[in-house]
Amino acid sequence: MAPAPQPRRTKIVATLGPATSSRDRVSALVSAGMDAARLNFSHGSHADHETWAGLVRELQADAGRPIALIADLQGPKLRLGELGTPRLLENGSEIVVAGEETAADGDLPVSPSVIGEVLQPGHEVLIADGQIRLLVLKVEAGRARCAVVNGGLVSSHKGVNVPGVPVPIPSLTRKDLDDLDFALGLGVDFVALSFVRSAADVRDLRELIEAAGAPAHVIAKIEKAEAVDALDAVVSEADALMVARGDLGVEIGPTAVPLLQKRIILTSLERGKPVITATQMLESMVHDHEPSRAEASDIANAILDGSSALMLSEETAIGDYPVEAVAFMDRIACAVEPSLGYRHELPEASDEPTVGQAMSNAACDLAEALGARAVLVPTFSGRTASAVARLRPRRPIVALTHHPEALQHLAIEWGVTPLLIPECPDVEELWARSIEAARRSGLVSAGDRVVITAGTTVNVPGGTNVIKVDVA
Ligand code: PGA
Ligand code: MN
Repeated sequence: MAPAPQPRRTKIVATLGPATSSRDRVSALVSAGMDAARLNFSHGSHADHETWAGLVRELQADAGRPIALIADLQGPKLRLGELGTPRLLENGSEIVVAGEETAADGDLPVSPSVIGEVLQPGHEVLIADGQIRLLVLKVEAGRARCAVVNGGLVSSHKGVNVPGVPVPIPSLTRKDLDDLDFALGLGVDFVALSFVRSAADVRDLRELIEAAGAPAHVIAKIEKAEAVDALDAVVSEADALMVARGDLGVEIGPTAVPLLQKRIILTSLERGKPVITATQMLESMVHDHEPSRAEASDIANAILDGSSALMLSEETAIGDYPVEAVAFMDRIACAVEPSLGYRHELPEASDEPTVGQAMSNAACDLAEALGARAVLVPTFSGRTASAVARLRPRRPIVALTHHPEALQHLAIEWGVTPLLIPECPDVEELWARSIEAARRSGLVSAGDRVVITAGTTVNVPGGTNVIKVDVA
């Protein structure tokens, strides 16, 4: 039996910004299908982020579905300091790069100041996403004289990358700690950490979140060679991943990005963790109302690679067509998804699956063989729903939980419709409530066959041990 029509399965994350600061605009993003809103703490004031968070919470209540709030911390990003007026760096000229505190007049100040201590002749200094390229010729007293290889106009606070050069700065800067505190106060569902270098970076952030008693999950942004080298450990430590193609392309070169994207996605899926593919997905829509064909293909390929979610950055933050960008992403996803085969040729989870993984496997096989309308997954933490999602079943996955936090976390998980149910005292009631909620959502109608997983000891995380074939 052919699967019934179903909602879009790949989730959409939209970055909020000046282009989406009114209630009407955010509301239009929600109507167009936004599943998660990113608050980018590299830009905007705390007051801005507070306004956006409030709008998203208000609108998700109206929409009747969870919309995740992601606080994206700037992390140990190098930036140009204060320049006064923009400066033109001419090809073939020379310029001195120095730590902000030590920069003399006419130098290019970079923050944090430690940069002056790590640069060596032969190193490259890239500015503004690699558009401007300098080569270090000579270093004296923390001031690096550089040749301008690719010139251009530079202005205050532009990003600086020094590929392959370890910079001894903490993974969470003072600004990040301050932003984290503020974001947790807003009740965000995820905290994304930029420029992750090791699993310890992720662990440190998680410990701070736990110490604050907050339920937020950690998204590790993979955008440095160190994180790629430590990928397995980083994926194990994180709750979710982001293929941060913008800085990744600057750090390791754009030619390596396409295959790394595939590798990061597969590594994430092997562990049953959601993975977001980000940056330049619809870049031409910052100014045009139609995407380029290459962008439509990129979105399609990111879905075929196994992305759980796709992210829009400038398109929605500062673009001229933010709502249209979400709508286009939605349409491209809906056009591509029917071609995803069952399991989509994804690798087996592991040689020694957990009981939960093996049960998820069997539930998807049953749903496929019996042409069930949906796979219902009562879940305590959301993890069982992720274990089912990684198999890419062709039927909708309905995750049922009495934990509002799990509901929010599942907003970015592929193919999952999360629904809130009351806490149930026993497994019979859990099944009944699950079917009832699925029917109420409209995903399942009376008389439809469904496959339900559950744990006979209810309310114990990781206790999935039975599968039931039932009729709604
Ligand atoms: P950013 O991260 O937008 O915060 O820089 C994503 C990326 O680098 O691709
Ligand atoms: Mn980045």
